[in-house]
Amino acid sequence: MKILITGGAGFIGSHLVKHYLKKNHSVVVIDNYVTGNKNNLKEVAVNKNLQIVEADLINFSFSSLPQFDIVYDLASPASPAVFEKLSFEIFKVNSIGLINLLDFFVRSKSSVFVFASTSEVYGDAKVTPQPETYFGNVHTTGPRSCYDEGKRFAEAVISAYIRKYNIDARIARIFNTYGPFMNKEDGRFISNFINQAINNQQLTIYGDGTQTRSSCYVSDMVTGLVLLGETKNLKGEIINLGNSDERKVVNVAQLIKKLTNSNSKIVFQPIGEDDPKKRCPDIAKAKKLLGWQPKINLEEGLKLTIQYFRSQSTNVS
Ligand code: UDP
Repeated sequence: MKILITGGAGFIGSHLVKHYLKKNHSVVVIDNYVTGNKNNLKEVAVNKNLQIVEADLINFSFSSLPQFDIVYDLASPASPAVFEKLSFEIFKVNSIGLINLLDFFVRSKSSVFVFASTSEVYGDAKVTPQPETYFGNVHTTGPRSCYDEGKRFAEAVISAYIRKYNIDARIARIFNTYGPFMNKEDGRFISNFINQAINNQQLTIYGDGTQTRSSCYVSDMVTGLVLLGETKNLKGEIINLGNSDERKVVNVAQLIKKLTNSNSKIVFQPIGEDDPKKRCPDIAKAKKLLGWQPKINLEEGLKLTIQYFRSQSTNVS
């Protein structure tokens, strides 16, 4: 197959690229490296089946590209820590960039389009766990709105393309995901806590830590995305992908402290505006339509991630 992966140098994108290369498919990556990292694809850079295009979707012509069997659109900064700094990049890639990509998809008569949406479309959810039918509770002008509304706009645009051009597009609502190749400086809770714990720094909890997240190991996420791209008859489907093992943030910090044998102190700092209090995916639809559910439990996934972060700090020093 011919696969296009935008944001292919990012955390989840680079795992998806490696999955398809391992299966001997031909992969084109488009990334502008705003949050993606060339090092994420270093081990596959010489693979003849991989073409990397350094470009921004908002002004790329696509004229050099062929027809694809599957287009995965993962091009967007995603960490709340960069929402203020990169708000316009987020708005543009999820609007102008997405429309350019969809126009190319229609023009090239490519087959399946998979969009990486987010649990953030549910905002500070009043319903938990969150099913795909929940319309969400998003603060439209708050500090997270560039991402939340960017992705909601993107879902609306894709739905309009399905109606107008009858394209086979599918939407993944991706919940918190972690694992090797996470950006160390990304500001996410799991990467922050692991870095802090292995460097004997204080673990910084925002708020009282009773807010919950449900974290999915990256290999499970990739399996879910691949099934979403490759399963027949899913046109127009919106599917939550995530692990429904819901934990309080403070408990994840304690678990990471234990797994790293760290003496670091846990400290509490002010929480950002609109930080969702409860996040947990209802994955009944993914189970039914994709036959998918996560396999790696939190403890196991954290151990693998800690190992990776330790290997990175060894490489640096
Ligand atoms: N968080 C924290 N300490 C950190 C980073 C994040 O307590 O060093 C909290 C954050 O306030 C949120 C949760 O952990 O409640 C998950 O944050 P993250 O940035 O990983 O992603 P989000 O799920 O908010 O998109």
